Amino acid sequence: MCECIFCEISAGRLSSVILYQDDTVVAFKDANPMAPIHVLIIPRHHYESIKDIPEALIGHLFAVANRVAAELKIESFRYVINTGSQAGQTVFHLHLHLLGGRCMGWPPG
Ligand code: 5GP
Ligand code: ZN
Repeated sequence: MCECIFCEISAGRLSSVILYQDDTVVAFKDANPMAPIHVLIIPRHHYESIKDIPEALIGHLFAVANRVAAELKIESFRYVINTGSQAGQTVFHLHLHLLGGRCMGWPPG
């Protein structure tokens, strides 16, 4: 897979503020945050979307997100996974958004 920015971040070739990493998952700050806390949690392996990843990895992805949220001491937060361009996905390497630190309306605009 070439020219995937999240593969580059996962490999350490593109800089980012990493909050957590292990063999399979990396969590780093979003470069263009939409909230005071905006973290992206990704599998290291390149999967285009949530439809493509193994079930076991889905659990680990959320477990890491929960851990990051706990470390950041936020009790109110939102997880978002945009899937497909019509839903707003712009980077086609699966990522879970963790958003928090401000009031967020529902439904989103
Ligand atoms: P999507 O719209 O695909 O759900 O979200 C992509 C996210 O990736 C956006 O929130 C955007 O700000 C973030 N992003 C895009 N390029 C970079 C980058 O090079 N570094 C980091 N840390 N975040 C990025
Ligand atoms: Zn990738």
